[in-house]
Amino acid sequence: MDKIKAKKKYGQNFLKDDTVLSMIIQSMPNNNNHIVEIGPGLGDLTKNLVKCKDVTAYEVDTDLFAILKTKFAIPIDSGSLTLIHADVLESWTKQKSLHNSKYDLIANLPYYIATNIILRAFEDEACEHIIVMVQKEVAEKFSANEGDKEFSALGVISKLCSIESKILFDVPPESFDPPPKVTSSILYIKKDMSKTMDKNFNSFLKACFQQPRKKLSKNVSSIVPKETISSLFEELEISDNIRPHELSASLYSQIYTKAIIDGR
Ligand code: SAM
Repeated sequence: MDKIKAKKKYGQNFLKDDTVLSMIIQSMPNNNNHIVEIGPGLGDLTKNLVKCKDVTAYEVDTDLFAILKTKFAIPIDSGSLTLIHADVLESWTKQKSLHNSKYDLIANLPYYIATNIILRAFEDEACEHIIVMVQKEVAEKFSANEGDKEFSALGVISKLCSIESKILFDVPPESFDPPPKVTSSILYIKKDMSKTMDKNFNSFLKACFQQPRKKLSKNVSSIVPKETISSLFEELEISDNIRPHELSASLYSQIYTKAIIDGR
């Protein structure tokens, strides 16, 4: 490893496994999209990505950014690389999209903000594929199906806004330096580009899953009047006893539209 101490506060676990690196590259969609990488770190994944396509990479750490600038000073590969020194979440606050044309997000994400990043990528209309290394537990939530015990707000969003969402493979802690405390997975999402995610929908879902093992009707009552819930559940033929993980994504969307958007 280059002479740099990994910073915990930035979730730095550098991927040091060539087999995993090449498996990530092989999972890249065959299209002309630009690539956005979040957290290039020491540039190992970046080097492989730029061999295939044009890449824009966002790195927050000043020390790593300086190393990357030197490492990639001389263009050696076919694609171009644009390095941006920024906190990617701040960039997403300043601009709606991380790139001005269609892109695929490919990254070994910093785990402390991985969920937030994926949710932002769902909101970003230019982003088509999300292929990211995350904590296995997070990957399971985004790829869960209705009825699975892992089905949560993240699964609902994923089901409604993507064509495909699956775990490609798991990656053990030994593949990183330093090793994280958890198993990781590569999550693959192909977004449904005809759908846009409404920011408030996530807050609504958070309330629905606030107490995941309690009845959904009880959770929803924190934001929707009880009478409205009763009449909506009757209209949509939803049992009053249903638990949050048992309801389909499409019914969540219908409740949200009727109760929150239409203000019934
Ligand atoms: N891509 C490298 C690899 O695979 O070895 C590093 C991955 S490491 C898990 C996460 C990277 O994200 C680190 O380089 C870290 O500095 C960077 N990072 C953390 N927070 C960030 C943020 N808010 N914006 C951009 N980069 C961030």
